[in-house]
Amino acid sequence: MSNPIVRCTVDQCTHYMPGDQCMAAKISVFNDKTKAVSSAVGDTECESFRARKSITDMIGAFHNANIGGTISAAFLPGTQITPSVECFVDNCKHWNQGNMCSARNIDVHGINASTESDTTCSTFEPI
Ligand code: SF4
Ligand code: SF4
Repeated sequence: MSNPIVRCTVDQCTHYMPGDQCMAAKISVFNDKTKAVSSAVGDTECESFRARKSITDMIGAFHNANIGGTISAAFLPGTQITPSVECFVDNCKHWNQGNMCSARNIDVHGINASTESDTTCSTFEPI
């Protein structure tokens, strides 16, 4: 099964790249920690969010960096970097066995995010 292309506007995250791209090698989408199940977009979160506070945070983020994708995206026209996606929101209509997401694209949002709970998977659709 193909992996969704991730478009992310969370520019407070260390993994964010201009062009609304995510340079993480992998992201994990969860239900909000205070809820066992999501009933709305706001109940989902990108667990891989890391707040960008300093240059040290950016260097620290390289343990989960999609370096090959970043390089090809920088040099190959039309190439899009995107992380692999695992998702634990199993009542989304795009969720599949093995914690896979079957959507073609997902949109991650979060204005002035400072924690994972400030982010959402806006492509979530409850079953
Ligand atoms: S919030 Fe998630 S999808 Fe967005 S840049 Fe950070 S890790 Fe990537
Ligand atoms: S669209 Fe649904 S299955 Fe895909 S990552 Fe978002 S919440 Fe998970």
